[in-house]
Amino acid sequence: MKRILVTGGAGFLGSHLCERLLKEGNDIVCLDNFFTGSKKNISHLMGHPHFELIRHDITNPIYLEVDEIYNLACPASPVHYQFNPIKTIKTNVMGAINVLGIAKRTKAKIIQASTSEVYGDPDVHPQTESYWGRVNPIGIRSCYDEGKRAAECLMMDYRRQNSVNTKIVRIFNTYGPRMAVNDGRVVSNFIIQALQGKNITVYGDGNHTRSFCYCDDLIDGLIRMMNSGDDFYGPVNIGNPGEFTILQLARMVIEMTGSCSEIDFQPLPSDDPAQRKPDITLAENKLGWKPKIPLEEGLVQTIQYFRDILKT
Ligand code: NAD
Ligand code: UDP
Repeated sequence: MKRILVTGGAGFLGSHLCERLLKEGNDIVCLDNFFTGSKKNISHLMGHPHFELIRHDITNPIYLEVDEIYNLACPASPVHYQFNPIKTIKTNVMGAINVLGIAKRTKAKIIQASTSEVYGDPDVHPQTESYWGRVNPIGIRSCYDEGKRAAECLMMDYRRQNSVNTKIVRIFNTYGPRMAVNDGRVVSNFIIQALQGKNITVYGDGNHTRSFCYCDDLIDGLIRMMNSGDDFYGPVNIGNPGEFTILQLARMVIEMTGSCSEIDFQPLPSDDPAQRKPDITLAENKLGWKPKIPLEEGLVQTIQYFRDILKT
């Protein structure tokens, strides 16, 4: 039985990861400060003999004995990571240093949850791992983008300097059940607005694109990366290459919910990337991974989830 630390384990992705790793027979330490995560996401795991919850802020050191670490602690929605940007970059940098300290001391394998945001507003499309990105270092998104880039740098330097077994996964927009109602990211915003009959807030003209991955596919990719050979450490893109404009997404959500909501065009926030789509050739070749759940199918699950929780 492996003892696995999941930082950010009470968040959207972290809770799915804890659940899946627990099902596979591992002993899970879920660490979270509940900034954007919630106890509700993991309430069904509480009381399991191999599940342990620690309320802790990863910007502070912590001493744990583990075999593997998934470092997911960090607010992921622009609304939340821009709420306290200094805290966001601290979480990324000091958080990475603290988990790398654990990995170095215990010889644990560690995966950093990085992001497609390291590519910034890309002038290479689709984005391959070899592309170094086009990030504004002083903009409102840089606390997150540059924080994640610094975390990648730390992963690579601990690998080269201290022989820590680090791995980097670059996650592209992922959605699904357990996104918080106040999360603020596009899929949950649109579904909630549609279900409540409110206007759908499309920022800009709606022609910018994103590629949406369902959470179960993403978790599968993360675990495959952890279980891959030590000679493959990434970075590797994990995402669904199906590319949609934000306007297309808005229309799909309106249609699938049967909503009478109208589209309300609002100003585009600064540095909002115009296009994003992962090249997943590396994940296919090295991990035998590709997403199985198309957007329409994942949206059905996600819409049902929000229907249920908005009723309660
Ligand atoms: P989320 O906001 O639901 O989860 C983040 C979790 O980290 C929350 O439970 C939060 O309370 C916790 N957290 C934040 N700061 C912390 C701190 N200082 N100490 C301890 N815990 C802290 O977001 P998510 O979508 O589940 O994202 C999880 C990870 O995946 C993040 O690192 C994010 O950057 C990365 N990621 C997600 C996506 C996506 O589309 N979902 C895309 C790219 C990268
Ligand atoms: N967006 C939107 N309306 C919303 C929320 C987001 O039009 O209510 C847009 C946002 O401007 C961006 C895209 O949807 O172009 C994806 O935004 P999200 O916050 O989900 O993630 P990002 O990829 O920007 O980090």
